[in-house]
Amino acid sequence: MVSRDGLAWLESVRLSKLPWLVHAFSTRRGGASRVPSTGLNLGFTEWEGREQVEQNRRRFLRQIGAQDFSLASVRQVHSSHAFVVAAGGTGQIEYQLCGVPSAEQAAPSPPAGDALMTAETGLLLAVRTADCLPVLLVDPKQRVVATVHAGWRGALARIIEKAVGDMRLAFGSDPQQLLAVLGPSIRACCYEVGEEVVEAFHGRFASAEPFFRTLPHRPEAATDRHSILFLSAHPPGHAPEQVPAAHLDLVAVAQHQLTSAGVASSQISVADYCTACRTDLFFSHRKEGGHTGRQMAAIGIRPGNLRRLSYP
Ligand SMILES: [Zn+2]
Repeated sequence: MVSRDGLAWLESVRLSKLPWLVHAFSTRRGGASRVPSTGLNLGFTEWEGREQVEQNRRRFLRQIGAQDFSLASVRQVHSSHAFVVAAGGTGQIEYQLCGVPSAEQAAPSPPAGDALMTAETGLLLAVRTADCLPVLLVDPKQRVVATVHAGWRGALARIIEKAVGDMRLAFGSDPQQLLAVLGPSIRACCYEVGEEVVEAFHGRFASAEPFFRTLPHRPEAATDRHSILFLSAHPPGHAPEQVPAAHLDLVAVAQHQLTSAGVASSQISVADYCTACRTDLFFSHRKEGGHTGRQMAAIGIRPGNLRRLSYP
């Protein structure tokens, strides 16, 4: 956790050692947004003016040292679409869908997708989350960076595994060289899911058991205060039975997809924060009933560092 000028964000110890890289997972600390997205809201919402969010974004970029970067992001749709990002000649950012020739693309800007990658300097690739899992990927050898947005739908669509494959396709990245960092997200402790989600994962993955944990069901809207009221309505010894429920472990799914794609498990780091447990630090869509802000996971290559070219 790095704090500066009232703002706080997370950096990976491992990625911080790469001087050509800028990266951060934002927290809600330090921004000027008000209820319900109190703090450093970095995503546009219907209950907050764009100007406030843009001001928060400028503040965040300045503090992490990315004020001169162009911010690249997509309309996140829980897909498995990954885009190669480049600075266009006209000052516009260009997004090219991986594996599809540009002639066949008719994408609006910004396009719909859930992963971004680049080898160009001066572009800050960002995904916004409020429970979904953000993943940063770095190829230190080829100097390629990527960011991925993975909720349960994206994870089911294998977005993380696909992003690693697309880095290989687009830049020749060797998965064994990649570093991966999993950011703050809702963790299994708080991520109860329905039977349809359990079935969907079992249908698409040969062995989905490690993705789920059976934990007691907790009423969805219950805050701590309400729980106490609820429990106190029952005389001692007559508390309602705790019903077990399936909880999805997004980190386990992400680790499975990374290692399936060839990333060494020793190269994967995890930021140990549950967004729903820590609404003092993070926005949580579920814990805050959908009315909240968005944090950002951002990564880019600093200008002034020539890309290391490999010659045969
Ligand atoms: Zn939790």
